[in-house]
Amino acid sequence: MRIEVDKLKEASTMFASDYALDELPLEDELMRLASEAKVEGRASKKREQIRLQGMINASVEVACDRCAAPVIVPLNTNFDVTYLPVEALTVDAEATELQEDDLNFAAYEGDSIDIDELAREQILLALPARQLCREDCQGLCPACGADLNTRTCQCEQQEIDPRWAALAEVKKGDK
Ligand SMILES: [Zn+2]
Ligand SMILES: [Zn+2]
Repeated sequence: MRIEVDKLKEASTMFASDYALDELPLEDELMRLASEAKVEGRASKKREQIRLQGMINASVEVACDRCAAPVIVPLNTNFDVTYLPVEALTVDAEATELQEDDLNFAAYEGDSIDIDELAREQILLALPARQLCREDCQGLCPACGADLNTRTCQCEQQEIDPRWAALAEVKKGDK
């Protein structure tokens, strides 16, 4: 969905967009939508600045950081982003620097704003940096890749506690 900038009035205009599972690819192979996503908000216009405020509801399937099992993360996130025409950003270099640091500013090109892009960015921003399938996830064995939540592997058993290894050395010396 796109918002046509020319059609916006000074007063705010409501907008809403729903995405089925395959309608909003998150452009990251480790995550995808796990439910329909809903975007709702209002757009207000002040000269060439368009402010979009609203909220996004979605759940996203990500991979557990330790074992890569799928984890469903429900998201309910608010956004408040002010769009400026891309020309306005490039002309005023100083303003651009300020705005690049600020996640609440974005640029639009041409005469419309891409709400799909907004939704995708806001979902990615809202996701926690680390996600575990459960607090005590054991992860994968770094040697053989076995899922240590469901089984133990030979490499794990062969790993010798360094204290015992030292003792074994001492015993060898006694002989
Ligand atoms: Zn896990
Ligand atoms: Zn192993």
